[in-house]
Amino acid sequence: MRRTIIRNATVISMDGQTGDYPAADILIDGSSIAAIGPGLGEIDAESIDATGMIAIPGFIDTHRHTWQSLLRNTAADWSLAQYFAGVRGVMGRLYTADDMYIANYMGALEALDSGITTLYDWSHNNNTPEHADAAVQGLRDAGLRAVFGYGNANDEWFPVSHKPTNLADMARVRRQHFNGEDGLLTMAFAARGPQFTTLDLTEAEFLAARALGLRITVHVGDGLWGLSNPIGQLHARGLLRGDTTYVHCCTLAEHEFQLIADSGGTASLAAEVEMNMGHGHPATLAFLRHGCRPSLSIDVCCSAGGDMFGQMRILLAATRGGAHGEDLRAGRTAAAQVISARDVLEFATLQGARACGLERRTGSLAAGKQADIVLLDARMLNLFPVNNPVGAVVNDAHPGNIDSVFVAGRAVKRHGRLLHADVAALRTRMEAATGALFARAGVPRDGSWLPVPYAGG
Ligand SMILES: [Zn+2]
Repeated sequence: MRRTIIRNATVISMDGQTGDYPAADILIDGSSIAAIGPGLGEIDAESIDATGMIAIPGFIDTHRHTWQSLLRNTAADWSLAQYFAGVRGVMGRLYTADDMYIANYMGALEALDSGITTLYDWSHNNNTPEHADAAVQGLRDAGLRAVFGYGNANDEWFPVSHKPTNLADMARVRRQHFNGEDGLLTMAFAARGPQFTTLDLTEAEFLAARALGLRITVHVGDGLWGLSNPIGQLHARGLLRGDTTYVHCCTLAEHEFQLIADSGGTASLAAEVEMNMGHGHPATLAFLRHGCRPSLSIDVCCSAGGDMFGQMRILLAATRGGAHGEDLRAGRTAAAQVISARDVLEFATLQGARACGLERRTGSLAAGKQADIVLLDARMLNLFPVNNPVGAVVNDAHPGNIDSVFVAGRAVKRHGRLLHADVAALRTRMEAATGALFARAGVPRDGSWLPVPYAGG
């Protein structure tokens, strides 16, 4: 079995038993971590000198519509209603299966390059079975740990849609691509839920997914749609379980947070998109009040940045900013912060693993877990000198600081470069696909396209 030892890194493990070290070694044996500790001594293994580096668990993005990578920055100035008009009304139906492949492949590589070792691909543009196959293949070729969240076809996504999900194709994808659950790829169901389809269809689809052994994620609590008591509706049908992740949750009512917590469910907050597009304010403190620790996600990569550093900083500032605003309105000055940088790093790693059902495999650095590891070069000007390692990662770092990325013990990035993909060739292919897509849509590619806001739903 191939062995690698990372020497002398500042270790932030996010694991209570392992703890943190100012300088320690990490021994990788095959796909997993064999040992972590200071000065592990002479070991027959390939040695990596990580002096001056910070080792953290790979980030986990629990909700990204990776197929939208072809539309990067298209929606920079769009509201949620314009997003529905532009992405759903124009672009989604024009995607070919090959577009799904190149978008997922390059989108997943982007995630990996920025230290996201596990990506929940919330795939809701599977217009034909070939689209779904291509999306899965893109993730597989990128070489990261991924959850393929099987969602619907584009035209099943207009609120409120009465069109059923293609459950036969969902079962086929499960059978054809996910027979063994022990590889890097797992499958889940990306449900429309009561905000985007009928409650009867929601119930039938939740039951069908669970019969296939699939975990579920569902968007709830975004904008005014979230005022329809979506969690209460699911509860009334007895559908709330610990296998479900609730995305956004900005406009849920207090009793709905309690229902999620009581069911053991998990949450995915996408602060950048939520505040830019009009979903509402991030629900961090509402979840914490009810004893539920959320995960983080990038969501629509056609408007949000694709890395976790940005998400962590935005969520930290948004959560603190909301609390400070309340204090100021009440004539108080806060004595302490409501959440810490370490809380946010935990959301971006360990809680992400929980939301994906992968906490026994990844999300922290501990002996026996998979070796999903990121090394940040803390000698760079924006991180040096390090006086608070967690603060450095959460408050200061960016993707350019990433020296190395390991997925299941395999080095996919070293010395700041991806090792396993011909990015230049893929870029040529992506440019051609994007140019053809915009030509089919008949819309400009210069930022001047502002769709007429979708008014339905
Ligand atoms: Zn989403």
